[in-house]
Amino acid sequence: CGSRESLKEVAERIAKEFEFSDVDVRRAVDGFVKQMNEGLRSHGCTIEQLPSFITELPTGFEKGTYLAVDLGGTNVRVCSVTLEGDGTFSLIQGKSAIPTVWMTCDNPSGLFNWVANFVHEFLEQNYPDSLTTAGTEDAQIFSLGFTFSHAVHQLDINSGNLIRWSKGFNIDGVVGQDICALLQNAFTELALPILVTALINDTVGTLLARAYASPKSVHTVLGAVFGTGTNGAYVEQTSKISKMTGSRTGEKGIMIVNTEWGNFDQGMEYLPTTSYDKTIDAGSVNPGFEMFEKRISGMYLGEILRLVILSLVQDPKVDIFDGVAISEMLKLRAKWGLDSSFMSHLEGDNSPDLSLSRTQIEKCIGMASFQDAQAIRIISHAIGRRSARLGAVAVGAVIVHTGCLKRGEGEGRVDIGVDGSLIELYPGFAAELKAALGEIEEIGEGEERIDIVVTKDGSGVGAALAAHVAAKRL
Ligand code: ADP
Repeated sequence: CGSRESLKEVAERIAKEFEFSDVDVRRAVDGFVKQMNEGLRSHGCTIEQLPSFITELPTGFEKGTYLAVDLGGTNVRVCSVTLEGDGTFSLIQGKSAIPTVWMTCDNPSGLFNWVANFVHEFLEQNYPDSLTTAGTEDAQIFSLGFTFSHAVHQLDINSGNLIRWSKGFNIDGVVGQDICALLQNAFTELALPILVTALINDTVGTLLARAYASPKSVHTVLGAVFGTGTNGAYVEQTSKISKMTGSRTGEKGIMIVNTEWGNFDQGMEYLPTTSYDKTIDAGSVNPGFEMFEKRISGMYLGEILRLVILSLVQDPKVDIFDGVAISEMLKLRAKWGLDSSFMSHLEGDNSPDLSLSRTQIEKCIGMASFQDAQAIRIISHAIGRRSARLGAVAVGAVIVHTGCLKRGEGEGRVDIGVDGSLIELYPGFAAELKAALGEIEEIGEGEERIDIVVTKDGSGVGAALAAHVAAKRL
């Protein structure tokens, strides 16, 4: 019989399970492009390809003051954004936690009335004149962009029907209703001088905000989010969105499309699967859905790592944590007990004795030896690397699908705006993603011409830019 595997060897063996080879990346890009095309042709596909009805990109010369409301999972943010016309902006912001009583109730207008009251307070504090002149000839009417992060079937730039609530919301009588109309009605009841002119997804906001700030010679093609979840919105030729009926079909020009790519490969033809991925999916609120997101995003990475460590502690053949019984490892046993920020700490630890990692592990799990820390880091790195390489599948597929590298516009550079704590804070995430882009045949050395730029405030500045575009059409 062979000698017992060292802890490091065990970790390296498990890390291999998370490998996603260059060949795998290329295959998945082909599958992703295929599913993007399906989503452009038909409704209800795995990659939904939702039209945003935004048909132009900011140039950076936009000017004016706009309001933005971002109704998130826990907070509502109200901003006034002043676009300076030179790619810069100034922003005043108010933020408040949404009272749980309005998240689940049987009054369809309760939440929207509460938001309108909050916006009223914001105007009282920051634009009191706009309230006193409301209804008069001198009235200043604000155009408002609404960032809404629940599933919506958008009908136009300023209307969309709620498909379903998510993130713990459940308000009776809203599904199927136009959420812009509900917000507008609440403003009108308070006689606020506001027109809700645009409805956007946060990835659309990231793309718009980046296009506004990017150098004029550069063409922004994609806004992507790698935070709690993952998603992207890109610039599509309107003529390719064949599922859109009505006058727009066959139109020239562009439209921003929200991919909803977190659900890529529902049929599981291209994605890697470990036993830990299966456990995550089975215990999730939406088994079988968002399989791509479940392997990439901040919400899940820490939990994947926790499941691996748990399996090591439960394996009698593995020496880890000095043999402490699993029954005593309360933190490790708690579902969602490890956050992906824990992995960022390990990844960023360059100390020879792994002292930073050991301190983090002690805080989040229990006392760790050098060998324990070394093993956990090896596994954590493999999970983070797989996530970044899968992220490259989505980004690479958009680049391949749009042909933007070949077109040679904008000095041949491809510009991508990204937002989210994972890509912003996980050391090496963006670099790993870019390296994997270089392995895609159609990109290769073109990888050097791709700029991935962190773009904050998509839901504020992006919504303001959407309101600007929409106001021009009124
Ligand atoms: P949201 O996506 O909800 O708008 P964020 O972009 O801040 O918000 O993303 C939050 C997610 O990012 C959480 O899942 C959290 O685990 C993860 N996260 C927060 N900080 C870090 C970090 N330092 N490194 C990696 N992931 C992080």
